Amino acid sequence: MRGHTVDYRAQEDTPPRGRLFDRGFWINDIPRPLLTCRTFGHKPVVDGFGDGSTPGHTARWVVCDRCGERPNPQGALDPAEWSVGDAYTGPWTKSQPVHAEVLKAQQARGEATVGPHAPHPGPWPANPTWTFSGQAILGKNIPGASIEAKVGNSGSEEPIAAHIRIHPIGALYLGANTLGRGLQRRLNPTGYESRVIGVDIDHNRLTWQLWARRDHWSRSDPRWQQGSINLDVATKLFGQKRYWFTDEGDPVEATVRLPHGDDHTVTLQLQRCEFGREKLRRRELTWTVDWDKQGGGIPTEPGGRGRVSGFHIDVSAASVRNGTWPLEAAAAIAKTVTAMRTREGMNIPAEVA
Ligand SMILES: [Zn+2]
Repeated sequence: MRGHTVDYRAQEDTPPRGRLFDRGFWINDIPRPLLTCRTFGHKPVVDGFGDGSTPGHTARWVVCDRCGERPNPQGALDPAEWSVGDAYTGPWTKSQPVHAEVLKAQQARGEATVGPHAPHPGPWPANPTWTFSGQAILGKNIPGASIEAKVGNSGSEEPIAAHIRIHPIGALYLGANTLGRGLQRRLNPTGYESRVIGVDIDHNRLTWQLWARRDHWSRSDPRWQQGSINLDVATKLFGQKRYWFTDEGDPVEATVRLPHGDDHTVTLQLQRCEFGREKLRRRELTWTVDWDKQGGGIPTEPGGRGRVSGFHIDVSAASVRNGTWPLEAAAAIAKTVTAMRTREGMNIPAEVA
């Protein structure tokens, strides 16, 4: 048994902010006891994929129906003769396959050899092992949360895998390699498609998968197998959040006096600004002023290149009660325009003209 880890954070030039730990780990060559198979012998059956209709996309080999181990060589059976799931009753090869290079040399000398693609299955592994691997992340990851278990197909590298991910706490991904082969053969013996059981929450939406095909969805799939619901109950019941603006009273004129020495006459329209949900009475009320400067606007850049002729500016509820909101609006406009002038490098009164 041996193991190693990889620090994924150290491999990135700028590790993502808020991710404290991100490591992959592998524990290789963990012995599989396989007591039943050692006592009674493996149970050879035919495994594979494809139905022979597409050349190159069909293969048949031998596997133990109980533990999922494969003999070595695993055999390259004739798909016309063997179906997936058949008990294997054909001939066996005595020897282990040799390395491809050695094989080539042996064949050149005309010696009897057996390669990895030998037609008949060979000996079962003497000391079957499995690899436990995974990745642990502490801190920020993909937003949302999910928990999932996957049962792969006969071609999967990880026949059984699982993960749990909770933003922003962290995530744990696990794979059981050949240990899961037996379980995969029990649960999902035929076809290419992995099956997924899991729940995922993202942006107020909960998605579930119950033995759903991993990368595939079709209209004929039962509703219980795969679906999602909107968790945003408030929006469902009371509607979206939004703003409402309504004019209050008639427009009034006011003078905006800038610290650079120039005065501007502007038109102000007071507006009620309400914020809340469409179907709820209760709304947050603030006051805003929509101002407008006819005839070119107020200069904001040297030489009068840039000008501003209006925007919304907030005023206090107290100034609306007192009737002094035009003064507050004029001062607020002057403050914002001054900041614009600072950004554009228009700093001295002489530049105004
Ligand atoms: Zn077995």
